[in-house]
Amino acid sequence: MSLSVYDETNIFARIIRGEIPCNKVDECDHTLTFHDISPRAPIHVLVIPKGPYVSLEHFADAASAEEQIAYFAAISRVAKMLNVSEDGYRLTSNTGHNGFQEVFHLHVHLMAGEHLGPVRLPKQS
Ligand code: AMP
Repeated sequence: MSLSVYDETNIFARIIRGEIPCNKVDECDHTLTFHDISPRAPIHVLVIPKGPYVSLEHFADAASAEEQIAYFAAISRVAKMLNVSEDGYRLTSNTGHNGFQEVFHLHVHLMAGEHLGPVRLPKQS
């Protein structure tokens, strides 16, 4: 999967078009935030731009300044809305094969609600 060629049939594109539902947390002209369907933390939401971007690099290269500002503003707004700023949270954006990206529409996972431990546990020998 190329990280700059966007597939309009991906599941998040279908959510943005309203073809399938999501459990919405927040929305603005340029972003949508909804609960992850398979949460891996007590709070686990996905923040996505509405534009057709595969990855953070694609977004940084191709999105307008207005879209980019709106995206970072949305992440911050959602953290405040979910009341996780004080206790803390984790932002993750899985990218490409090694990053285990499954949905090829840019998204940031915001996970919170418990102590999440290290980003990656050491490999067992
Ligand atoms: P990744 O691309 O590896 O960052 O993972 C994609 C994420 O999207 C996973 O955490 C899935 O649980 C989540 N996901 C997939 N389909 C849906 C959906 N229809 N609604 C909400 N979350 C979804």
